[in-house]
Amino acid sequence: MDEIITLNLGFTRVFLLKTDFGFIQIDAGLKYTSRRYFRLLKRRRINQEDIKLIVVTHAHSDHVGALKKIKTASNAKVLIHEKDRDALVRGIQAEIVPITLVGKCFKNIIPKRMHLYDPVEPDIVINNEYSLLEFGINAKVVHTPGHTSGTISVIDGNGNAFIGFTAHGYPQKLTPESPAMAVDLDAVFSSWELLIKEGVKKLHPAHGKPFSVEVIKIILEKKDRERIS
Ligand SMILES: [Zn+2]
Repeated sequence: MDEIITLNLGFTRVFLLKTDFGFIQIDAGLKYTSRRYFRLLKRRRINQEDIKLIVVTHAHSDHVGALKKIKTASNAKVLIHEKDRDALVRGIQAEIVPITLVGKCFKNIIPKRMHLYDPVEPDIVINNEYSLLEFGINAKVVHTPGHTSGTISVIDGNGNAFIGFTAHGYPQKLTPESPAMAVDLDAVFSSWELLIKEGVKKLHPAHGKPFSVEVIKIILEKKDRERIS
């Protein structure tokens, strides 16, 4: 079986990483895509109970909407960064700050009901790098703030990073100011630098297709040139 399984839920992609003991899942999708999620699991012949951990990249409803349902069905532990914990236990959105026109349009077109989700009490709250070796995989969680202050990413031993909305995988020319929403844009760029420093080769965003780390290197270099000139 593949080491990385992508469940394409339409708006959001959810990832499953194969471990020695089952699977680690990254994010949970919108509340109303839970049926599709369970259908895709079944099609892949994956037992819900084999999902041992769900890493929440950040507390926005398109990443945690179906979390309660999935956690209940699988009995998986939930891991989140302490800075997004509060939003998760209250079932509210972590702060959403649009920084581009696309982001503003996007924020305004999201229907109210899509902001809602059932609160979840996490099992593991981190404030720093966190090894996933105890879950049977050579991977770790790193803090990549910017989109929200508690955004985290998972880096595996093969140069893959699962980054939530720290960057997106839509054609870059659509939104050259990528990412479209961030509480701290400079922090986003610092997080990109961290991913590069960690030797990441391929980025797997929750929105859009995976892409090479070279894409963010080019954006960062362009930014540096603009700053100098
Ligand atoms: Zn988000």
